[in-house]
Amino acid sequence: MAKFKGTDLYQIDDLLSDEERLTRAMVREFVNEEFLPIIREHYREGEFPADLIPKIAELGLLGANLEGYGCAGLNNVAYGLINQELERGDSGLRSFVSVQGNLVMYPIHAFGSEEQKKIWLPKLANGEAVGCFGLTESDAGSNPGAMRTRAERTNDAWVLNGGKMWITNGTLADVAVVWARTDEGVRGFLVETGTPGFTAKAIHGKLSLRASDTAELLFDNCEIPEDNLLPKTSGLKNALMCLTQARYGIAWGAIGAAMACYEEVLNYAKDRIQFDDKPIAAHQLVQQKLVDMVTEITKGQLLNLQLGRLKDENKATHVHISLAKRNNVSQALQIARNARQLLGANGILDDYHSMRHMCNLETVITYEGTHEIHTLIVGEHITGHPAYS
Ligand SMILES: Cc1cc2nc3c(=O)[nH]c(=O)nc-3n(C[C@H](O)[C@H](O)[C@H](O)COP(=O)(O)OP(=O)(O)OC[C@H]3O[C@@H](n4cnc5c(N)ncnc54)[C@H](O)[C@@H]3O)c2cc1C
Repeated sequence: MAKFKGTDLYQIDDLLSDEERLTRAMVREFVNEEFLPIIREHYREGEFPADLIPKIAELGLLGANLEGYGCAGLNNVAYGLINQELERGDSGLRSFVSVQGNLVMYPIHAFGSEEQKKIWLPKLANGEAVGCFGLTESDAGSNPGAMRTRAERTNDAWVLNGGKMWITNGTLADVAVVWARTDEGVRGFLVETGTPGFTAKAIHGKLSLRASDTAELLFDNCEIPEDNLLPKTSGLKNALMCLTQARYGIAWGAIGAAMACYEEVLNYAKDRIQFDDKPIAAHQLVQQKLVDMVTEITKGQLLNLQLGRLKDENKATHVHISLAKRNNVSQALQIARNARQLLGANGILDDYHSMRHMCNLETVITYEGTHEIHTLIVGEHITGHPAYS
């Protein structure tokens, strides 16, 4: 058997095209050279490294699987690999790209007018503008159908009142895709953040996803021009379609975080000596943890690859994506916890990455549908019984 290299035990590389491998290599180099050297300070400060936005855009990572309007038009496997490599760096970095591409550019692309697409997509792709996505409210998380934010139609505008909570990119954004109840059901609006009555307040005190901007959005008689309604939105299902796109990227991203933890701790375990001059990697209980990690990473990589191929053939459903998000994030969290454990006391220092990934993954297992909600989505599919309430 060829010597096992890194995390590719099953020669999954051979299943990728040259373009997919090149995309992965490009993002890996960016993360290794420009992101990892600065993440520790940004994590400590609780700040997203916004200075990197032009570089992220220049690499074509924003809306990379969308066609036209300045987007890269990559296939979904290449797009998945982008997410994997970004989250090898930090879940906050991947979250920035996911929100901009899947939750802001995708709804404009899918539900926007031609004019909205021409105005917003090129500048969101080139990083000139940043977007955020407001669905969750303080009393409507897992059940967004309970939202209270309302938009009332006037003669030629809409007046928005309410608030959104936990909004990634909230204080950085130039435009917010906001979902609100109307007399015609839930609809999506493009809210320019300079609009009078709009406020974004940073949420402080996070112990997870610290290098990501998270905010509360408030709308106080915020007047939105008719032209900023996303015309093809006609219900909550459109917001959920955006989440399906983002959850796809998260399934790949979580495996990237797991790979970072595994690689860090494998190296550490080979060097760290305890008992009889033996590296800890030579102890059976340590090997068991390492083998569990690489097994779950391999399974997650294969799951992602087949999911990506299905998505490229338009055969991936929201159930496939829920299964992958649910599995890969919970496995990645377990891997990060075990990696932290094997690093011993050193593992609590931010000189090492595993505990940062572990803390981040506590958000990732909660947002974009909690682990339990994805259980219920897959459960409904296989049994035919919805069990949400
Ligand atoms: C850092 C961060 C960034 C975020 N970014 C965004 C963003 O950009 N835009 C946005 O709109 N939202 C965002 N969110 C919000 C996120 O999507 C919600 O937190 C998530 O949907 C869960 O909602 P909740 O926190 O209100 O938890 P709740 O819905 O109150 O759930 C609490 C617990 O109860 C469980 N639970 C709830 N209902 C059921 C049920 N029927 N059966 C079994 N268990 C159940 C949940 O699984 C969970 O464990 C973000 C959250 C975080 C933490």
